[in-house]
Amino acid sequence: MSPKPGSKKKKSNNQPEERKKCYLCENKLDALDYKDVDTLKKFVTLQGKIKPPRKTGTCSRHQRLVARTVKRARTLAILPVKRG
Ligand SMILES: [Zn+2]
Repeated sequence: MSPKPGSKKKKSNNQPEERKKCYLCENKLDALDYKDVDTLKKFVTLQGKIKPPRKTGTCSRHQRLVARTVKRARTLAILPVKRG
């Protein structure tokens, strides 16, 4: 019996296979602007929550920077605040 060419393989988890690189390291960004909404949106969900570094691939150093900047943007009502 030969295996079907188009047979689906089940993936064990929904994590991305490729290990993502840190966006900020790749672009050599050492600072994030809280006004830079387009960049910040890469790191938050549609609900305004900060994505876990596993999903974005952000290194821990930059993840802290992202978290700080997102919180600052929230305070200034640039990004939505997740409620309740
Ligand atoms: Zn980084």
